[in-house]
Amino acid sequence: MKYFDYTATTPVDKEVLDTYIKTTNNFFANSTSLHSLGQRSNMMYTRSIEQLMSALNLTNHDIVFTSNATEANNLAIFGVCDKYSNGKIITTKIEHASVFEPIKALESKFDVVYLDIDENGIIDLKQLEKELNNDVVLVSIMWVNNIIGTIQPIKEIIELVEKYPKAKLHIDMVQGMCKIVPNFDLNKIDMFTFSAHKIYGPKGIGGLFIKKDMVLQKRIYGSNVQLGIKPGTLDLSLIASAVKAIKKFYPLTQEHQDDVKNKFNYLYKNISNDNIVFNTPKENISHYILNLSLPKINGETLVHLLESKEIYVSTGSACSSKLKKPERTVFALTKSEKLATTSIRISLSHLTTIEEIDELVKILNAV
Ligand code: PMP
Repeated sequence: MKYFDYTATTPVDKEVLDTYIKTTNNFFANSTSLHSLGQRSNMMYTRSIEQLMSALNLTNHDIVFTSNATEANNLAIFGVCDKYSNGKIITTKIEHASVFEPIKALESKFDVVYLDIDENGIIDLKQLEKELNNDVVLVSIMWVNNIIGTIQPIKEIIELVEKYPKAKLHIDMVQGMCKIVPNFDLNKIDMFTFSAHKIYGPKGIGGLFIKKDMVLQKRIYGSNVQLGIKPGTLDLSLIASAVKAIKKFYPLTQEHQDDVKNKFNYLYKNISNDNIVFNTPKENISHYILNLSLPKINGETLVHLLESKEIYVSTGSACSSKLKKPERTVFALTKSEKLATTSIRISLSHLTTIEEIDELVKILNAV
């Protein structure tokens, strides 16, 4: 099997799985129970959060664990917007569906601006600056795009949004966390999200980091567990595994980023099929993602053709790949329906081998 779909999900790391099993065996008690077993679980929870904050050098954030990043993104967006009956939201045309769809659902109440991207897949900071005003309640812009791999200028975005205290900044960090070394200070972001299954952790857990001074409108009512924002009995095994994944892979970010960049360049330079159009731009990109189109072949057909050789890639985002619509991000970038319906996404990992890339290249060059 040659797996090139690490952006959709990753296999669980062995040490992370060991953490899951050990925590399940040793900390099964409910962390809210008053007895000593419960208190041991509660201590384990507190310790996990301390370790998480220390691994990411965060000094003024809380974390709310969720079932995945989709839930964390929804929590951030509605948590802020439900406090207002009107106002303005700024986002981009290329957000993941878990940001794009909740914001679309708020269009009846809010003035929503979807920032354009240029031919390099990057937003125009001047457009953002022009759209910012005192009505803005939320700015939601992803760090690394999950379809074409472009990296948005988060440092500059933070500086612009900071000038408007009412505007809260939400960054979807799912495809950047543990993959790209940030050139900005995480402590300056009001809310950001991650997903454990993208970084060799288990499925079923993601999280929303929130600045301590922020209050979010509740969507779920219950106990005061997890700041009362996401109440319910904690799954300590998932939490400990997610924290283990970050503790293990965050310090390896630079090493893996360099390694994957070499593999990306090897892949890129060996593709010699003149029919292939590269959609991923050349600069400001995560080398974990290469998006390309074969304009004569439907993206889905190409995925299945590769699959027949045990090579696994994706059309757009795995979550919406069955919709058969032109891929929204590729369309925003290329303005071409043809390229947007024939695109595939090849995604890499430090686990990818040169032999696997050679196999992929062989087939792509022959199509
Ligand atoms: N944001 C981005 C950028 C993603 O790539 C994904 C996963 N495709 C998500 C959010 C949603 O993550 P999850 O699968 O954990 O809900």
